[in-house]
Amino acid sequence: SSVFSNVVRAPEDPILGVTVAYNKDQSPNKLNLGVGAYRTEQGKPLLLNVVKRAEQMLVNDQSRIKEYLPIVGLADFNKLSAKLIFGADSPAIQENRVTTVQCLSGTGSLRVGGEFLARHYHERTVYIPQPTWGNHPKIFTLAGLSVKTYRYYNPETRGLDFEGMLEDLGSAPSGAIVLLHACAHNPTGVDPTIEQWEQIRQLMRSKSLLPFFDSAYQGFASGSLDADAQSVRIFVADGGECLAAQSYAKNMGLYGERVGALSIVCKTADAASKVESQLKLVIRPMYSSPPLHGASIVAAILKDSDLYNEWTLELKAMADRIISMRQELFDALQAKGTPGDWSHIVKQIGMFTFTGLNSEQVTFMTNEYHIYMTFDGRISMAGLSSRTVPHLADAIHAAVT
Ligand code: PMP
Repeated sequence: SSVFSNVVRAPEDPILGVTVAYNKDQSPNKLNLGVGAYRTEQGKPLLLNVVKRAEQMLVNDQSRIKEYLPIVGLADFNKLSAKLIFGADSPAIQENRVTTVQCLSGTGSLRVGGEFLARHYHERTVYIPQPTWGNHPKIFTLAGLSVKTYRYYNPETRGLDFEGMLEDLGSAPSGAIVLLHACAHNPTGVDPTIEQWEQIRQLMRSKSLLPFFDSAYQGFASGSLDADAQSVRIFVADGGECLAAQSYAKNMGLYGERVGALSIVCKTADAASKVESQLKLVIRPMYSSPPLHGASIVAAILKDSDLYNEWTLELKAMADRIISMRQELFDALQAKGTPGDWSHIVKQIGMFTFTGLNSEQVTFMTNEYHIYMTFDGRISMAGLSSRTVPHLADAIHAAVT
């Protein structure tokens, strides 16, 4: 018998498990609204044309080599990523107060940031929103931080629990780390307004709470890269410190390439360079150095104005398709006279709608309509199309009546 025969089977990942169940379903009408990846109107994954063009350029480059990248990754990629999130004219960048390291997509950036904080920051508690992306508590716990939650979502209004959020952050210990979704909060689709962000900023700065932004959807929420980075930029504009984890999975469709960046904005250039020296000590024993290909694609797109413009158009088209799916689903429920207020479907932002459906209703929709989603009632709008909206509306209607 195996030396591993005492290993107990672990449960399926709650999000990835939805796809496993979907794949087993034989129904021609089956619909996967669990997956957090963009799909076209035809239900297919999308390889951006601009990514194809950038890859072609890389392949045609005769001087191309496959040497190791430095521990911190591709220098051009890091500079351009910082500009993308903080703004091209950011004083923090001009003053060399930002260190940026290439990491394994958003997840890897959060993990490296978490490990750095656990080793070098004086307060080991990180506050995450309730609810949040299911991987957050695991990433930060394994990084060595202690995880607490702050109130974020109000199920009654299906909107932000702004007072609860301010109260909980207000009673956090001075210096605590606070994880903030830069835009398109996952799973709720609920974001603070700019005025609310400004109040959050004032409170956090007054209590020396350290912001750690998770930016997995820049450009994907509103269709504008600048608008979706506003939350981060108001925190950097006050001269204070923060961390930001960026992912190019959604906004460039580079999911499997695992390309992202961690930036740490410091008060001084000296602090930033010391921080970077320590980030290298976090990264080196974990995976030595990050992969080359995805970062080369991103750098090629960000540095060429023609490719950059094409990217912004393709990004806007993805965001717009998602926004129009919100409207179509809302209209379909209105037309059927489905009981309840469904306006949150059009008010929420980004890839997901937090429908408010409970786990029994979700199970009913899966069993009777072959529609797959997570048990918290989160549906991926990117998995919908004009063709499948009526089927979903029928299922929701049946589930709530
Ligand atoms: N943060 C949030 C809120 C996310 O939704 C995701 C993707 N599901 C990520 C981070 C990281 O994704 P990735 O590692 O693929 O960039």
